[in-house]
Amino acid sequence: MHVREILTVVRHSLAIVAFLAGSAGAAPRRPVVVLDPGHGGSNAGAQGPGLHEKQLTLSIASLVADHLRAHGIDVVMTRTTDRTLTLRQRTEVADQLPADLFVSIHANASPTRTQRGYETYVLTARGVDVDGRALRSDTGTPRPGTDADVALVLDDVERGASQWEAAELAARVQHNLREHRGPEGDRGVRQDAHHVLLGATMPAILVEVGFIDHPIEGKQIVQPSVQAQLAASIAEAIEDQLTE
Ligand SMILES: [Zn+2]
Repeated sequence: MHVREILTVVRHSLAIVAFLAGSAGAAPRRPVVVLDPGHGGSNAGAQGPGLHEKQLTLSIASLVADHLRAHGIDVVMTRTTDRTLTLRQRTEVADQLPADLFVSIHANASPTRTQRGYETYVLTARGVDVDGRALRSDTGTPRPGTDADVALVLDDVERGASQWEAAELAARVQHNLREHRGPEGDRGVRQDAHHVLLGATMPAILVEVGFIDHPIEGKQIVQPSVQAQLAASIAEAIEDQLTE
C-alpha cells in the first residue's frame, strides 16, 4: 500500500474512534503550527560566527512565522524572546492547543568543525509510550469528556498517523533546502532515539538548517539573505503539507 493510502486508512480509523469517543462534530478551524526556536536563555546552543545557535534559530523561526501568517496559517512560537525552556515546556505548548504540526528549528555543530549540510529529523514518540502515559496521568486526561482508556487508544492511533505525516513533512523540507542550498549538503531525513517529543501526538520534525560552526557554511547561514532562504524552505514545506 502507498503511504498516502495508509494515511487515509489511519485517518478514517481515527475519525471512527473519535466519533465513538463522542468528540466528532467539532467545527473546522484554521490550522495551527507550533514553531520551536531551538535553545534560548541559559542554553545558548552551538557557537557560530559572532552569535549563538539560540539567536539564529529565533531569527529563522520568526521569518517562518511571518511567511505562514501571511498565508493564513496560525502560528504559535514556543518562545519569542531569549528565554530558557525545557523540552517538556516546548511540548506542552503544542499539546495544549492542540497544534496540527510542530517544527523545531536548530543549527548543527561538529567536534572538528568540518561537517556541513542540512538534515531533518522525524521527532518520534517511539520508546516513550510509557513516559507519555505517565506524563498524561500526571496532568489528567487531555481529552475532556473522553474515557481515560479510550483517550490512550486515541493517543496511540494518532502517534502512528503522525509518524507518516512527519516523515512526509521532513521530506518536503529536505527537498526545498536542496533547491536553495544545493544537493551536496543533503544529509537526508533521519530518525533516532535522541530526537523524541515527549507526549506530543501531532506530526513533529526538527530541522538542522546547517553547521553554524563550519568556517564557510557557518558564515553563510547567518547571512540575512540565506536565513530568508532557509525560512522559505521550511515555511513552503509546511504550507504544502497543510494544503495538499
Ligand atoms: Zn540545537
